[in-house]
Amino acid sequence: MFEENPTSTYLGRPGAPLPTGNDLLQNPMLNKGTAFSCAEREAFGLLGLMPAHVATMDDQVERVMEGVRRNSTALGKYIAMMALFDRNRALFYRVLTDHLQELMPIIYTPTVGQACKKFSHIYRKGRGLYLSALNKGRIAELLRNWSYEDVRMVVVTDGERILGLGDLGVDGMGIPVGKLSLYTACAGIHPTYCLPVTIDVGTNNDELLQDPLYLGMRQARIRGAEYDALIEEFVLAVQEVFPQAVLQFEDFANCNAFRLLQTYQHRVCCFNDDIQGTASVALAGIYSALRLTGLPLTEQTFLFLGAGEAGTGTGNLLVAALMAEGLSEAQARQRCWFVDSKGLVVQSRQGLAPQKQPFAHDYPQQDNLLSAVRSLKPTALIGVSGQGQAFSEAVLAEMATLNKRPIIFALSNPTSKSECTAEQAYAATAGQAIFASGSPFAPVVLEERILVPGQGNNVYIFPAIGLAAMATGAEYITDEMFLVAALALAAQVTDADLAQASVYPPLTKIREVSALIAVAVADLIYEKGLARTKRPDDLLNYIYSWMYQPAYPDYVDDRS
Ligand code: NAD
Repeated sequence: MFEENPTSTYLGRPGAPLPTGNDLLQNPMLNKGTAFSCAEREAFGLLGLMPAHVATMDDQVERVMEGVRRNSTALGKYIAMMALFDRNRALFYRVLTDHLQELMPIIYTPTVGQACKKFSHIYRKGRGLYLSALNKGRIAELLRNWSYEDVRMVVVTDGERILGLGDLGVDGMGIPVGKLSLYTACAGIHPTYCLPVTIDVGTNNDELLQDPLYLGMRQARIRGAEYDALIEEFVLAVQEVFPQAVLQFEDFANCNAFRLLQTYQHRVCCFNDDIQGTASVALAGIYSALRLTGLPLTEQTFLFLGAGEAGTGTGNLLVAALMAEGLSEAQARQRCWFVDSKGLVVQSRQGLAPQKQPFAHDYPQQDNLLSAVRSLKPTALIGVSGQGQAFSEAVLAEMATLNKRPIIFALSNPTSKSECTAEQAYAATAGQAIFASGSPFAPVVLEERILVPGQGNNVYIFPAIGLAAMATGAEYITDEMFLVAALALAAQVTDADLAQASVYPPLTKIREVSALIAVAVADLIYEKGLARTKRPDDLLNYIYSWMYQPAYPDYVDDRS
């Protein structure tokens, strides 16, 4: 039977005696630093190992933030935060939760991209499991080397398509580590449940192969049957060693991502955030945008720049959403158009990748994005191409000519790859664009109006999906769950958010937002008979009972 959430807030191995002295201070899951009480210092041999004053967690948060802000660069702030991660996990999560708006761009995109690019040069600690092709046949054994026995959430990458930065090999580990810290900060997944994994199958990045400090295997990427066999061994090993774990595929290149999702989606409890999470967050943004335009979903024409994981994933979810509103599949697909690196995706093109074929329409090829916009007259332009500045002023202006309120989503990450900036989108459309981006942009003041660009960040979706799947013990994760998640996210966008042209709720509400999305998804999981736990009477309370609060437990009861 699926094991329910342990209620203990204990962060070490349940039942194990606490270490003492420096061993206690060096265990990030147990360490409280200067917040150890006098009784705890006495009981655990800590006297003299720190100054006399007993700090509160609030004092510690202030000290950490002072230190983080003293760094003049984003990368410096990232290094300071990760040093805290290594030292004191509860404090790390408390700082992150209290300052999410400020620290999310440090812990995740865009700064995590810089950190990954320098990973082998700034490496201090592993922070996750590195499974290399050299360990073939021993993957389960390596999983058992992880510090925690009860893992429920695994984020795995092979480092081939890190953000919009391409093949970073083993240096991509910053992504699963960063992503799992968002699972904890945003949806309260217990830190000890989280396991970041990088599968090292080599890299095709010459710069890394020639870098003497590069830490991964120095060989070209393994492909084909050997690659698939390694992934199969990994998936089976996760099932064997951590049978209650949800598996999230992250930043795999699209030559593998679609196939792996198709292979495992209905075999194990897994999802691909780049394909399905992005689709859900983008669809939620569209639902909100339609409240501003006042036009129904069925009357939209979507033009995507980029037909990869994010693009076709979103296209497929849009098709499901359009069909839910009464369109046939053929009619729904006719509403979604794609331009990729070779032009408009049309039937006359040879050798189209399988994921693009259902969107290849019988239509003449267009010279460029501008002519595609002029010809197709889209109501929404969605950038998922990884091509910075690809939405020219002329393209944006044309969208404003065609639509009173053009929907412009420039979702490529990191910031340098964004198809346009918020300022460019608003300037070229006289402030009429309904804009969202993948990486954050600051509010823009235009003719005394404050426009707040929404961040179409997958963080609104993946932590909630993970929480729902974990709390219900879902057997597997269906596409319909991402549709329900999009509706639940959109339902939490207030009229006040929309008045500022923001199509997502503020990040400051993320824990509440995640809980409510998780409730909607969990409800579906129970309804479809996919749960391995008994449906609780009060689903909201049940979901909240799974959410870790970053606080220190008392190791010594000195209240008497
Ligand atoms: P991908 O490699 O699967 O797809 C990229 C697509 O862009 C391909 O179809 C490619 O043909 C196309 N492309 C490349 N150059 C082009 C050009 N010059 N003109 C038109 N199309 C071009 O990558 P992906 O996973 O789909 O991610 C794409 C981008 O979306 C990345 O920058 C990623 O960071 C971003 N993304 C954002 C979010 C988010 O904001 N929520 C989520 C996922 C991905």
